Amino acid sequence: MTAALMQLADKVMAATYQRFPVAFEKGRGCQLWDTAGRSYTDFVAGIAVCNLGHAHPRISKAVSRQIETLLHVSNLYYTLPQVDLAAWLVENSFADRVFFGNSGAEANEAAIKLARKYFKDRGEADRFRIITMERSFHGRTLATLSATGQEKIRKGFDPVLAGFDFVPFNDTPALNARIGPSTCAVMLEPIQGEGGVRSADENYLQTVRQICDETGTLLIFDEIQTGMGRTGQLFAYQHFGIEPDIMTLAKALANGLPIGAMLARETIATAFGPGAHASTFGGTPIVTSAALEVCKILVDDRVIEKSKTTGAYFKEKLLALKDRHTIIEDVRGRGLLLGMKLEIDGAPVVKQCMQNGFLINCIQDRILRFIPPLIISKAEIDQLIACLDKILAETVSS
Ligand SMILES: *Cc1c(COP(=O)(O)O)cnc(C)c1O
Repeated sequence: MTAALMQLADKVMAATYQRFPVAFEKGRGCQLWDTAGRSYTDFVAGIAVCNLGHAHPRISKAVSRQIETLLHVSNLYYTLPQVDLAAWLVENSFADRVFFGNSGAEANEAAIKLARKYFKDRGEADRFRIITMERSFHGRTLATLSATGQEKIRKGFDPVLAGFDFVPFNDTPALNARIGPSTCAVMLEPIQGEGGVRSADENYLQTVRQICDETGTLLIFDEIQTGMGRTGQLFAYQHFGIEPDIMTLAKALANGLPIGAMLARETIATAFGPGAHASTFGGTPIVTSAALEVCKILVDDRVIEKSKTTGAYFKEKLLALKDRHTIIEDVRGRGLLLGMKLEIDGAPVVKQCMQNGFLINCIQDRILRFIPPLIISKAEIDQLIACLDKILAETVSS
């Protein structure tokens, strides 16, 4: 079945992904099963999406209940789960208002539009430039790839959207030198995900906040990957003792259903009035009912505490692995957003892990990224570590 499926896919689908030769059929918790019945422990979680694992009974129930009740009516009307979800997010963050879209890129689009509109409304029409970070990742739409600080992602799509300036991450003098009267916002990931699991230095974010305050510039945090408990706090900004003005969420918010959210403080959010921005499916009942259940489970099952303690355990084990294998250059990250930089290409290691029943991810060629469901057990981590230990030893000796 898999061979036929792969052949058909290669013929009928846009070839935008280099896929692994495996088709998954079902999942449960941190386990996945392919069409041949082989099981895998999932340290990818759909790229930091399925934070509560696969086929979570409470989410399945919430979604089934909603499917049988109401799928969609349009944002011309109020619906219950959407408002409840927005209220929960407001209650549990710095923000006062929420706009819902369907993906991370759309959440960032909304943030970019809001930042521009905010200054237009104040009569500062020329203040539209946004400073983002080198090696950042903000999405694949034209505006968000324009905001992304990676040449390879913008390549082939010129002319990109005007108004983005890039500075090196964790470099305060560079930011000070770049910020000017036409800068409306600084946009960054508190911990860069796709860019290599690179964390902001604590002092850096505090200084960025200060620079933004002094210049009246908005601070936008892209927490699409870091949000919803991934790093051991509900939102990564909570590690740093500061707050942004705008924040975007997506990936794990509905544990696998497509959603994006843009959150903002009151004075800024109100720049979006009727007609300023919209989305047909944004915050539709089916998706927001799943997200609302995710939020409740995070609290009820103390999942964020788990992310913190399990993440610390995992990082310790990776550091111990680094002591034994000189080809490991660096171990980095926070909570269950962890990276391990190798001196060699990571792709063969990913492939061998897969052959041994573990899904892991490789970014920027040589960085293995570990982003399992937050409910991953220490025993499952131990099994992966033993597997990596063996693979790395064999890689060096061969
Ligand atoms: C995944 C990701 C995005 C893009 O999200 P999509 O849902 O794929 O559009 C944007 N920013 C960050 C930090 C991400 O990790």
